Amino acid sequence: MARYTGSVCKICRREGEKLLLKGSRCLTAKCAIEKKAYPPGQHGKTRRQKLSEYGMQLREKQKIRRYYGLLESQFRETFEKASRRKGITSEILLKMLESRLDNVVYRMGFAPSRVTARQLVRHRHFLVNDKIIDVPSYQMKPGDVIQVKEKSRKMALIHDAMQKIKEGRQMPWLQLDKAGMRGTFLEVPNRADMPVTFNEHLVVELYSK
Ligand code: SF4
Repeated sequence: MARYTGSVCKICRREGEKLLLKGSRCLTAKCAIEKKAYPPGQHGKTRRQKLSEYGMQLREKQKIRRYYGLLESQFRETFEKASRRKGITSEILLKMLESRLDNVVYRMGFAPSRVTARQLVRHRHFLVNDKIIDVPSYQMKPGDVIQVKEKSRKMALIHDAMQKIKEGRQMPWLQLDKAGMRGTFLEVPNRADMPVTFNEHLVVELYSK
């Protein structure tokens, strides 16, 4: 499947926001956006882009899509599913993105980034309700228990990521048993609890054109 292979830090710089695509480095002074808070490219520093309405909608969609690490087709498909559900489409979209298994693996602290989380899920390192699930887009449901597979418990990648988990910093909709290398997805998160500053309604406006 086609994947972006360029510098991920350039994506953050283009969007003007930390999208946390590089794991623990993102939280240090080495973060590229800390050093170069302007868009990439020859004229990034000097030319200020004035965005049209369409441009703003497009940028916001790209920002959300990249934050969760989805391809355009995957993102569009999630949006279509969200729009078929009852309720506010923009909110449902974010809830569906937050409920993805790869995102939950990352949020729980089993992986340093969403990209790594996706890889670990595909490589069958996690059980959900005692069954191996290797589909990153799997939608977690309230009460689902996720667990690192017995054989994968000594993996340095997972171990190192878990060492960096800060106590008391868990998302309110997740419960982690660090020693047991397992956690529960307590509920689908409320929009207000999500630590993101997106204007997700712009995505609805974009796709409604
Ligand atoms: Fe983005 Fe992380 Fe790179 Fe900073 S270090 S620019 S947050 S990917």
